Amino acid sequence: MKKDKVLLPKNKDVYLSMLGKKITKCKRCALNITRNNVVVGEGDPDARLMFIGEAPGADEDSQGKPFVGKSGQLLMRIIEAMGLKRQDVYIANILKCRPPKNRDPLPHEVENCIPYLLMQIDVIDPEIIVILGRTAGITFFGKDFAITKQRGNFLEFRGKRVLPTFHPAYLLMNPKAKKLTWDDMKKVLKELGLSVPKK
Ligand code: SF4
Repeated sequence: MKKDKVLLPKNKDVYLSMLGKKITKCKRCALNITRNNVVVGEGDPDARLMFIGEAPGADEDSQGKPFVGKSGQLLMRIIEAMGLKRQDVYIANILKCRPPKNRDPLPHEVENCIPYLLMQIDVIDPEIIVILGRTAGITFFGKDFAITKQRGNFLEFRGKRVLPTFHPAYLLMNPKAKKLTWDDMKKVLKELGLSVPKK
């Protein structure tokens, strides 16, 4: 899943690695006190497709990796159903540290942390970004964003094509909505010029 490179891959790797080291030492907000691990994000630095969630949960906080708990396992099943692998895409969150008890991110936490994600987006330069859930949608598109109304529609953010869909945690609680998310992923595959795998 490669595309023409804006930067030499070595430079991209080096930049992301340096950024990761900077993020792991971050104390810009109080979440640095309660976190066990910073969850920087991971995947292909040349990914054409990026998935962005809200914040790490307990499993992610303990392992330092994004989307490794139950929600993450569902996201991996979605990615595999698309005919892709985890290492083909890039996965990150808006907040790099877990909010206590998985509460919603606070505005000042997002304000402090979002520059890291924007740097990751700029360096990886994906063709499509899938944002997962309401909080990510509000962060990208403002307080009037409604996931139920705007999911499945391509929007634009800083010149990038962005498709909002349900967060896997929502899908675990509302399995009927999985079909809608799969419809959204088929749109993503079409935009990337990839065929929809037969089940
Ligand atoms: S959540 Fe973001 S801004 Fe806050 S300490 Fe962690 S990395 Fe820094």
